[in-house]
Parts: sequence; structure tokens; C-alpha cells
Amino acid sequence: MKSLGDLELRGKRVFIRVDFNVPLAGGRVTDRTRIEETIPTVRLACEAGARVLCASHLGKPKGKVEPELSLAPVAAAFAETLGRAVRFVEECVGPEAEEAARSLEPGEVLLLENLRFHPGEESNDPEFAKALAALADCYGDDAFGAAHRAHASVVGVPALVAEKAAGLLLEKEVRELSRLLDPERPFAAVLGGAKISGKIEALEALVRRADILLIGGGMANHFVRALGLPVGRSLLEEDKVAVAREILDLCKKEGKTIALPSDFVVAQSPEDAKGARTVGIAKIPQDAMALDVGQKTLEQFERLLAPAKTIFWNGPMGVFERPPFDRGTKALAMLLAESGAVTVVGGGESVAAVKGAGVADRFTHVSTGGGASLEFIAKGTLPGIEALR
Ligand code: ADP
Ligand code: MG
Repeated sequence: MKSLGDLELRGKRVFIRVDFNVPLAGGRVTDRTRIEETIPTVRLACEAGARVLCASHLGKPKGKVEPELSLAPVAAAFAETLGRAVRFVEECVGPEAEEAARSLEPGEVLLLENLRFHPGEESNDPEFAKALAALADCYGDDAFGAAHRAHASVVGVPALVAEKAAGLLLEKEVRELSRLLDPERPFAAVLGGAKISGKIEALEALVRRADILLIGGGMANHFVRALGLPVGRSLLEEDKVAVAREILDLCKKEGKTIALPSDFVVAQSPEDAKGARTVGIAKIPQDAMALDVGQKTLEQFERLLAPAKTIFWNGPMGVFERPPFDRGTKALAMLLAESGAVTVVGGGESVAAVKGAGVADRFTHVSTGGGASLEFIAKGTLPGIEALR
């Protein structure tokens, strides 16, 4: 895999896939972490004299134009963070985008509109990839958080471009996360969160690499269900329960420890702070939702993590955005911060929780990717990385 700095960029048009999937509220960017993380790469390209085209997805517009998911406000935050003007076009392909790309001067930066306004992005449509590739002479990927997606801008475009390389953020992520491919053992992985599709399949692959698996958050409900226990109205992707059952069987077969929460904090809804109470794993009421792990679970997790030399964490333990359901996630963040192990946390919400607890600098590595970091550690590579080889 080449590094963007290895390419001859002077005067060239470089298409850089960035991850500007940032949180927005009232048309403003509320957290610029992802923008800040990719600034060194954009600066490198500008200083090398390249004409820089940046492209990203934002949210899930599902192939249709959704004005609230326009990257226009992100362009403004990007320009401020970069300290240079950023041009913005309301398209990522077609005549307007082509004209904007053509008129770029060396050192100038352009941000294209949300890639996912086109269905061809997620389906990796060859025509869409061709249209994107036609805008530039070379390709750089700095969107680690999207590198597990075989989408047009991640795998389709680099397949069509001869000169391609990794940006500085992607390189840093691969370097840091590679340490977990040959980890000091015992190696523990803690999984939670709400995105089950995709992640639970990667979790299955992770069983072979990790020694201990700890499951919390919405992920845990699938395992509770796999044991034949009720989960009430908790978050559940019914079609993923079978994968959870396979993981339980695989752990048994391979002699791996898998720990499920022994208790949960339940309520009517995330808004029902007053109704919060703790119940045992087998006692989630029919009309309630499991919204956090309980105190007994935290004590059990602490015991299990004590001998670990390497710990990977993705996915909050509960709905940490709404107290009191933030307790489990906060406690886990503190536990890992105080651990002497190599600690890696990945994922938009997980990292937000760790930052909120004020302990991000006490982790060995804080990854910008959730699903991407999990899949990289489980499989040793990602589609977006293979596309650069
Ligand atoms: P990350 O962004 O760290 O990769 P995810 O996107 O998978 O993590 O999930 C984060 C979300 O999971 C948070 O918004 C949190 O509220 C939610 N969550 C965690 N536990 C539960 C639960 N038990 N029920 C519903 N949502 C949950
Ligand atoms: Mg997330």
C-alpha cells in the first residue's frame, strides 16, 4: 500500500475519499473530530501542489437527495479547520462537478456533495465509479471509518485509477490496529452498541482471535434471545439471533470465554429515567426495554478484564446519551482508562462517550472507525485497504 506522500502530486487532480460523516444539529457541525483527523492529509496534498477534490458520505440518504444531509455546512467547517478556502459543488458527478474539477488551481480544495445522494455509491455501480474516477488523475483514501464498505468511492474508483495511495489517517489506523492482529494475550474484546448488521458477522470472525468476549449494549439482547430468554421491547434485529447462537456455540467449541450481562437496567423507553430499575438476565419484562448493563455485570466485567493484556472496545454498553443509562458505558470507559493493558476504542458513539468521560488520552489508540476497526481486527484487512494494493 502506497502512501499519498509517495505519489507525484504536483499539478495533478487528486480525489481524496474522506470521512466527513459528522454529527449535525440545526445545520451546524457539532463535533469536528472527523474533519480534524483528515486535515494533515489534505494539507499534504495542497502543499505538494495538487488540485484537491474531497468526497464523503453523510448519513443515510439511501440514494436520494435529502437537503438536510447536504455537505454544504460541512464545507464551511472544513474551510475553518483547514484555514484555507474550500469550494463546494452541489453534485459529486456530472457537468457541474466536472467544471469545478477542471477549474481547480494547484493547492485549491473542492468538496463534492454527499456521495450517497446517488444509489450507485452503495451499490458500487460501475458507471457511477467511472464518473467519479473521471474527475481526477489519482486517488487517495483517508476514510478509515468507511473502509469496510465495498462502495463505489471506496473500491470502485481505485480499481479504475492507476495512481492510488493511503492518506495519513488511514495509514495511522492500519499501523495502530495492526498491533491487535498479534496481540499480547489474554486479548479481550468488548462489544456493544446498536448497529448489529455487519458487526455481528465481524464478531463471529473475532471469536477466533480474541480470548475473551464481553457483550453489552443492544448487541447483548441478541445473545439473550439466542438463549431463549425474553427481551421485551428491547432493540433487536430478529434475523441476527441465529448468528448470536452460532457465536455461543463457536465459543463453547473453541473454549473461549463469552460473558453476557448478568443484569440489565430496564425502563419503558430511553426517556423514562424515573422508571429505571435493574433486573436479572432472565427477567426483562415484556413491556420494557433493556437500556444499560447493571452493576453486577460491571463487577463481572471488571474481574474478567483484570488479567487482559490487550483490550479492544466498540459499542456503548447502553443508551449513554440519556442518564441514568450512561452508567455502564462511563464505568467501562474508566475501567479501560485505568487498565495497564493496551487499550483500543473505536466507533463514533464509543469515542464520544470516552471523550465525554474525559479519558480519551488514557487509551493506547482511539480509532475513528467502529465497524471498520472491528472488521479490521477480526479479518486483518478491509475492502478499502485491498483496493489500494
Ligand atoms: P459506535 O458508533 O461506537 O460504533 P454503534 O453505532 O453501534 O456504536 O451504537 C451506538 C448507539 O448504541 C448509541 O447511540 C447508544 O444509544 C446505542 N445503544 C447502546 N446500548 C443500547 C441498548 N441497550 N438499546 C438501544 N440502544 C443502545
Ligand atoms: Mg455509531
